[in-house]
Amino acid sequence: MITLDIAGQRLEAEEGSNLGELFKRSYPQGFKEGVAAKLNGRVVDFMTPLRESGSLELIPVDSPEGLAVLRHSTAHLMASAVMKLFPEAKLAIGPAIEDGFYYDFDVDRPFSPEDLAAIEKGMHDIAQEDHAFVRGELKRDEALDRFKKQGEKYKAELVEGLPDPSVSTYTHSFFTDLCRGPHVTKTRFLKHFKLTSVAGAYWRGDSNRPMLQRIYGTAFPTQKQLEEHLQRIEEAKLRDHRRVGAALDLYSVHEEAGGGLIFWHPHGAAIRRTVEDFWKAEHLRRGYTLVYTPHIALVDLWKQSGHTEHYAQNMYFLKVDEKDYVLKPMNCPFHVLIYKGKKHSYRELPVRIGELGTVYRFERSGVLHGLARVRGFTQDDAHIFCTAEQVEGELRGVLDFTRFMLATFGFQHFKVELSVRDPKRKEDYLGSDAEWELAEGALERVVKESGLPYKRAEGEAVFYGPKIDIKIGDALGRDWQCSTIQFDFNLPRRFEVSYVGSDGQEHPAYMVHRALLGSLERFFATLIEHYGGDFPVWLAPVQVQLITIADAQVPYAAEIKELLLSKGIRVEADVREEKMGAKIRDAEMLKIPYMLILGRKELEERSVSVRSRKKGNEGALGLQAFVEKLVAEIESRQ
Ligand SMILES: [Zn+2]
Ligand SMILES: [Zn+2]
Repeated sequence: MITLDIAGQRLEAEEGSNLGELFKRSYPQGFKEGVAAKLNGRVVDFMTPLRESGSLELIPVDSPEGLAVLRHSTAHLMASAVMKLFPEAKLAIGPAIEDGFYYDFDVDRPFSPEDLAAIEKGMHDIAQEDHAFVRGELKRDEALDRFKKQGEKYKAELVEGLPDPSVSTYTHSFFTDLCRGPHVTKTRFLKHFKLTSVAGAYWRGDSNRPMLQRIYGTAFPTQKQLEEHLQRIEEAKLRDHRRVGAALDLYSVHEEAGGGLIFWHPHGAAIRRTVEDFWKAEHLRRGYTLVYTPHIALVDLWKQSGHTEHYAQNMYFLKVDEKDYVLKPMNCPFHVLIYKGKKHSYRELPVRIGELGTVYRFERSGVLHGLARVRGFTQDDAHIFCTAEQVEGELRGVLDFTRFMLATFGFQHFKVELSVRDPKRKEDYLGSDAEWELAEGALERVVKESGLPYKRAEGEAVFYGPKIDIKIGDALGRDWQCSTIQFDFNLPRRFEVSYVGSDGQEHPAYMVHRALLGSLERFFATLIEHYGGDFPVWLAPVQVQLITIADAQVPYAAEIKELLLSKGIRVEADVREEKMGAKIRDAEMLKIPYMLILGRKELEERSVSVRSRKKGNEGALGLQAFVEKLVAEIESRQ
């Protein structure tokens, strides 16, 4: 006999009885709403035979687990529609993923958009026939035999890799799939889905194995949710930094120069310069010293830092004049050398050394992605050297600084993840218990005090120290990894980083790495997608576009341009012999915040007609008045 607790009720059932039947009897409303259940914390479907006692709860369809069941079941439905249309196709795997599902097929030719439409239609037809998902069990050898006979070589390989003596299958209509579950009970629950794309994918991600065709799709409990999701995908496509970057001529990548290496064009560079100037000014204001360090260093330095041991697969090595150099993958050892250039008294601490330091790290070409994943990038890096007593204050300062910076760039939503060591494996970490306790305690207190939502990730810390990562939410509600504050108990030991205490003795210093924006390249991608290329005036690559109506105003335009340039305003003049309407449209395409229309009247009155991107036509304004207003707006960084 099996005893179950369901929604406060205690229930007895025969071993092997069907979970769905049990649910229907004891909790009919829940059965109607639910897609699956959780038995002792594990997700199971209603077709699962009962084999253990414990607590059973219902999974609502819009919970992450419920959505995964819905989406994975839709993957089965898709596979059945594919098999109907392409009986020769061989099946690989079809899991639920974040935001949807996919299924991999071995087919003679890639699927076309027309194929996807036909498959989607087939899915709806099969779903409406309302087949039940029927769970079956086969002995491992039987399953192997059956898949081999059917020519399903991928399924056979999967079974071969399973240790279990028996495997479960799920069948709806004519279609049977090897699967552990869970699934919805009937195909009619699968209504609101969409196939979104198709791409090549190697079997088991191995480029030596066959290339399969992966169809991606998504499913939701309601049509409204599905449509909203599809709209978000469209919006994300429109904002894709690679698309916007090309349309606004912000940056490029050249295969002849190498993948993952970014060329910042004048308009992209203007934004970067603005970010850098702001970054430097704020660092100086907050007591950092700024440095520049070389791009290469002898391999011996990287041996001492431990990078050749732990990081070699990401490093570029150079041999010149019989000496081995490394293109720097990190700035840290360089800042340590600067710190160690002289003795530091406790009175001088904390020392905060910052640099916009360009580093190079090898990444496989398959993972490179626009500005977001590159091989050469500039970190907004800094290293803080301080005493134990100063740790908490420094962390508080860094977190406050981070929020200030990110809020200035228009980000309001933050999520913090605190990575601490696994308390059961303390011996695997470098540094003393006292150091770890101090660092983790200070990080957690500071994060708590900030009121930001945070998650404590046990065992996620790297071996040399705990850290916090800060993710920012953009205009579409997507998260971007941005800031990191990381303790290091490794480098100070390897380089004997110390200070002279009030007792006249040398003491090891605490060392914290921190990057507020992460890398300028990745942060630029975030900015582009957050604003969709429609930057606020202080960041806009061109802040003012001058538009002449006739040749008579060209000298006036030149005069205004010179005046604005002298105020540090980024201005361009469109003096082509085009119609005013065409010039306005072109400036709108470039999302320029202000257009100044210069005609006969403006020239006579020494005024400008202002067209603001945000507010539309603002009418005529004296030249000086406009300049003052604009300078104030830029300084406000709004
Ligand atoms: Zn399945
Ligand atoms: Zn560092």
